[in-house]
Amino acid sequence: MTAAVGGRSRRLLGVAAALALAFFLLRPELARALGDVHLLLAALWLAPLGWLLGPWGGLGLGLAMVLPLALAGYRGADLVALTLGAAAVTGAGGWLRRRTDLYRFRERALRLLGRVGLLAAQARSAGELLEGAAEAAVAEGGYLLAMIWDRVPGGFRPRVWRIADPRFAIEEEAGRLVIQRNGRPVLTLDLAALDWGKTAAGQALARQETVITDARRMRGYAFGEAARVLGYRTAIAVPIADREEVVGALAVTHPEPSRFAREEAELVREVGALLGSALERLALRERLRSQAITDALTGLLNRRGFLEWGRVTLENAARRGRPMALLYLDLDRFKEVNDARGHEAGDRLLLAVAQRLARATRSRDLLARLGGDEFAALIEADREGAATVAKRIRQDLARPVALNGEEVRTGASIGIALFPDDAESLEELLRKGDLAMYRAKQEGLGFALFDPKDDRALRGRVALEHALRKALAEGGIRAYYQPVVDLEAGRLVYLEALARWQAPPSSFIPLAEEIGVIFELDLAMLENVVAQLVRWEADGRVLAAGVNLSPKTLNHEGLPALIEERLAHHDLAPARLVLEVTEAALLTPRGEAHLAELHRLGLRLAIDDFGTGCASLERLTDLPFDYLKIPRTFVREVAASPTRSAVVAGIGHLARHLGVRAIAEGVEGAGEEARLRELGLTLAQGFRYAAAMPPEEVPGWLARFPARLRNPS
Ligand code: C2E
Ligand code: CA
Ligand code: CA
Repeated sequence: MTAAVGGRSRRLLGVAAALALAFFLLRPELARALGDVHLLLAALWLAPLGWLLGPWGGLGLGLAMVLPLALAGYRGADLVALTLGAAAVTGAGGWLRRRTDLYRFRERALRLLGRVGLLAAQARSAGELLEGAAEAAVAEGGYLLAMIWDRVPGGFRPRVWRIADPRFAIEEEAGRLVIQRNGRPVLTLDLAALDWGKTAAGQALARQETVITDARRMRGYAFGEAARVLGYRTAIAVPIADREEVVGALAVTHPEPSRFAREEAELVREVGALLGSALERLALRERLRSQAITDALTGLLNRRGFLEWGRVTLENAARRGRPMALLYLDLDRFKEVNDARGHEAGDRLLLAVAQRLARATRSRDLLARLGGDEFAALIEADREGAATVAKRIRQDLARPVALNGEEVRTGASIGIALFPDDAESLEELLRKGDLAMYRAKQEGLGFALFDPKDDRALRGRVALEHALRKALAEGGIRAYYQPVVDLEAGRLVYLEALARWQAPPSSFIPLAEEIGVIFELDLAMLENVVAQLVRWEADGRVLAAGVNLSPKTLNHEGLPALIEERLAHHDLAPARLVLEVTEAALLTPRGEAHLAELHRLGLRLAIDDFGTGCASLERLTDLPFDYLKIPRTFVREVAASPTRSAVVAGIGHLARHLGVRAIAEGVEGAGEEARLRELGLTLAQGFRYAAAMPPEEVPGWLARFPARLRNPS
């Protein structure tokens, strides 16, 4: 833009010269024809001259017109009037020029500051900010060249440059800047030679001063040479500083000395200040970001950082066709250390582990603490390489760690998943590494490579969960019945309902508890059993049945009313139901209240697995139980072991004392039964009498039952 002003100035000068020549040649004729008016025409060529010279130059030139006017024969008042008139016209031309320039300057200053301000607010990286600022300096600021330096130890290093003149291009090649004109190199500058840190200008910038130079005077300097090639003259350099220090410099150049050197310098300084504060903001953001992706304790990446960087690492590996391995690491016995010696010791142990991990791997391997005592490493390795590294890590971690002068031993279980063989995404690798680690830990292997079997085990669980929910929704869980018998009276006491499904209860009952559907399951069983009792009754068989209730079910709000409502709905007497609950169910006030309420309603209650829970005997005596079930673990060795015998006898005594009847569970052999009879226990349940059976087999069993009791095999 300044170059354009230069071109226009030359045209104006030509017009002024032509007008002056015409005036002098035609002056006598003009004077004769127009009288003194012809002097007005003289002003026509003085005004452009004033434009070129500026207000003061114009005024000076106008006053200097006194000489040619005197030569032309003017004297006295005429001479004074004409000279002042000429000065006024040229001065006005100069003034107009200044106004125009100022207006233009303000306009481009506004545009430049506006764009840099926007960049400062929106740029997401220092590179984006500085590139944009250099671009704005030539596009909006009207400068010929804009250059931004990074402050480096001992000086400044060029980082970004832009040149307005499309004939020129500046490229960086192996430590040099090559300036090309129309595609052909015209000047090569050493980057080191452009480092002006040691020069007076560089030192002034470091002191946060503004430097304005006439580049053409800098002979022998790289800038001077560049100035001649590129055609700039004035260079304004300003510091880019954050609150604490100078972090870079910005320089812009003009083809000619600016009329507004001071204003121009202020404008550039303003741009520099904007860049400084924006760089500070970006640096802060970068710091915060790095905090968000690193683990504060160990300085390793955290899970989020690992996922971010790991993804990039895998993409690179895929491009280069390199195998990678994910090592998933879980410390052994960390919880013990943490519990026994406190968090601080635990933290120090984790830090020591992180350091050893860093030593056992290469610097380009990606390490992370995933949380708690779990770590991960993403390394470039195939199956064998990964196993070697895993072994090395385990050896390293096996050495004792000194904590408060004491030596603590830890160790790690490591699971390995391979990229791309086992998985192609980092999430999958982590999941599979975790599974392999789990198996390594379970089986005490130290480390294990992922095996598709690990996956099936998990998928199996997921599938099981899915199927269980479906079975509950569709009534796919059946009740089988196992009798509780009275050996003395030869009678059936009640039939315990046991849930049957595709998987054994020992796996799906805990699963139902875990996924929060145990209440639905227990209630489905209850409904099922009540309906069955009603059907049997319709066939002329008045039977009682037991239903197992998990602690969660017993504690469910409104349970007694719910059961009461179901019984009323089927018109079944409450005494026909026995509810079996474990001691764990008694640990809450609500559980106890529910039991009392259910008892009041007329249901019978049994404590399941007596002696394996942790309820106090005192509490049990206060509760309205009818039966107390002695678990199979106590019953199993009752015939052979005197201690077992004593325990079972003790429970029998206690039951009698409390006015409760004891049921021996899991009776299998004749010896067990005989011993139980000797100890005075007459209620029993077990394979000896019947395993759990489907309801349709119950009538047949009932028909044979007394005979079986009389003729024990
Ligand atoms: P539990 O209530 O103690 O049930 C007794 C378990 O012992 C049953 O196992 C039964 O089949 C088994 N058993 C019976 N007699 C013998 C024997 O002579 N020898 C041996 N070795 N075992 C015998 P099952 O059916 O596998 O049930 C396991 C557990 O699952 C039950 O233990 C109970 O806690 C739970 N369960 C079953 N159905 C339900 C239900 O509908 N709801 C709830 N909450 N839990 C249930
Ligand atoms: Ca039971
Ligand atoms: Ca039991």
